[in-house]
Amino acid sequence: MKAVIENIQHFSLHDGPGTRTTVFFKGCPLRCLWCSNPTTQHFGAELLQKTDKCLRCGACAAVCPQQAVHMVPGSLPQIDRSRCINCGLCTSSCPGKALIMAGQEYTLESVVANIAADMLFYRNSGGGVTLSGGEVLAQCDFAVALSEECRSLGIQTAVETSGYAPYENLLRLSSVTDILFMDIKHVDNEEHKRLTGMDNTHILDNFARLLKDRVEPIHVRLPLIPGCNDDDAHLAAYAALLAGMEGNFDLEVLPYHRLGKNKYEMLGREYALGDTPPLEEERVSHAVSVLRAGLGRIPVLCTA
Ligand code: SF4
Ligand code: SF4
Repeated sequence: MKAVIENIQHFSLHDGPGTRTTVFFKGCPLRCLWCSNPTTQHFGAELLQKTDKCLRCGACAAVCPQQAVHMVPGSLPQIDRSRCINCGLCTSSCPGKALIMAGQEYTLESVVANIAADMLFYRNSGGGVTLSGGEVLAQCDFAVALSEECRSLGIQTAVETSGYAPYENLLRLSSVTDILFMDIKHVDNEEHKRLTGMDNTHILDNFARLLKDRVEPIHVRLPLIPGCNDDDAHLAAYAALLAGMEGNFDLEVLPYHRLGKNKYEMLGREYALGDTPPLEEERVSHAVSVLRAGLGRIPVLCTA
């Protein structure tokens, strides 16, 4: 069994307790404007260009079978993404390592072995593995098998998901996962579509169903994005919606950051949020207090 994985990151301290290994799956049906992992969105390997490493030698243009690379004297190579088929030929010819591929196929055995190499760190820290992305559920069979294998080795598993997948798949993965993070990004369907490219009805439906089927808590996550979902009216509506739901869950607020901005440059894409600054601490505290006021008994955490 194989999956396309963007990266396996060791010694992570996010997305679960202790020291973790995070496996970033490729492919996502959503296109959140603020996505900090745009290199995981495409369902397959994808060419990245690190312009600061380029020697302007033209080797990439010479090997490209698609004539997708154009050299202009004195300039960086221009990549025509509409012609590029992500074949990767230019990456092996590039002497500056300015061209790399995001994503490659891994076998289940190789990912498990990679994760298991840090067993001692998990044991000493209470950590484990986190399956992230991209959307993990887009490669559901692999994710389920990986989680099962890790658990059979005594490795704690966590999953991050947008919840945008067939419910049966969400339930299958949930049933073999110790810690489940699920995003709810906006409660208004039209706004959700504008911000993420997809409807929220299916996500909210899946969440309501999973609350009935999962015994362990669901950790709902709200990425708090300036100008997108951080206004008081939305936060109050968000809290009201969750407060009306029965089940075992809490809410974590993830304040906006710009750590993924340079990845858009490497993909030759524009970053939709431009120079939007991170939220000030007071603004985050205010948002948390609005949510707490509306959510009553439901715990609200904040990573800031
Ligand atoms: S990945 Fe392939 S098609 Fe794309 S620019 Fe490089 S050589 Fe050309
Ligand atoms: S082969 Fe690499 S170093 Fe040479 S021009 Fe292309 S991107 Fe730049």
